[in-house]
Amino acid sequence: MTDLTAFIAGLPKAELHVHHVGSASPRIVAELAARHPDSRVPKDQETLAEFFTFRDFAHFIEIYIAVVELIRDAEDVRLLTYEVARDMARQNIRYAELTVTPHTSVLRGIPDLAFMEAIEDARTAAERDLGVVLRWIFDIPGELGLPAADETARMAVDLRPEGLIGFGLGGPEIGWPRPQFKPYFDRAVAAGLHSVPHAGETTGPGTVWDAIRELRAERIGHGTSAADDPELLAYLAEHRVPLEVCPTSNVATKAVASLDEHPLRRMVEAGVLVTINSDDPPMFSTDLNAEYAIAARLLDLDEAGVAALAKNAVAASFLDEAGKARLTGEIDAHLAAWRG
Ligand SMILES: [Zn+2]
Repeated sequence: MTDLTAFIAGLPKAELHVHHVGSASPRIVAELAARHPDSRVPKDQETLAEFFTFRDFAHFIEIYIAVVELIRDAEDVRLLTYEVARDMARQNIRYAELTVTPHTSVLRGIPDLAFMEAIEDARTAAERDLGVVLRWIFDIPGELGLPAADETARMAVDLRPEGLIGFGLGGPEIGWPRPQFKPYFDRAVAAGLHSVPHAGETTGPGTVWDAIRELRAERIGHGTSAADDPELLAYLAEHRVPLEVCPTSNVATKAVASLDEHPLRRMVEAGVLVTINSDDPPMFSTDLNAEYAIAARLLDLDEAGVAALAKNAVAASFLDEAGKARLTGEIDAHLAAWRG
């Protein structure tokens, strides 16, 4: 372990772009598979680890679907959520806005109220036992179209669990223009939820503009192609609309050709508030600490620079002011102790 990786490992962090099902590590999948012996997921640790080694995007989808198929009842949801928080605690992630797609589970037969109860149970237990504060962003699985948007908005607004703070949109961008989802975002925003759609990951900067103008985005998931539009970068900087950057994911999905060609530095140089995130970490063979190490290399950062990046995530989060001050203080204390 180099000094910088040790510093990152101990650094208290917030994560803003990470998916619930996409965070299921091989350890968690093995626990879920033990509950459902008929599943097609490999049972022994070695084959499972191999199954989880990222090959290409098609393989990622295969793993993702295999995990979705393992989440069959409310107890599976509770177990997944709590164990994801345990993996976060190991990386010193102290706060996470976890993107949850309740519609996928409800479609598979888990009653909506039981789903809400399961994630809330896990949230309070994770905070109590592990010191990890979780909040939810409910996202529309865009590929399921407007009925899924309507259902997700209904669950967000009518069933609103205590930990819910945001409303998102995932799935493919090509063929699913963002503006059609406007009524559902209007509904969520009117109910006091923050708008945090994915945009500009696989399409051009026009999609990011749509997310801002039509979906009232307060933060952008990925926004990779924003780097191609200087006017958009200036807008994001001026209005302090943060980008949730996920470097390894962007290479895995071919949104960028390689880490060295990632536009992270251009975003930062344009004055945009950039946050570092892991998206679907075990499925892309990464974690948040690895993403911080990548960002440090791409931006040529030392410990103080990495700490500043961690503070960006706190600033871009929807924590209240007291929560932000507390976590920022922990980051400063870690840096001071490191130097001392
Ligand atoms: Zn994502």
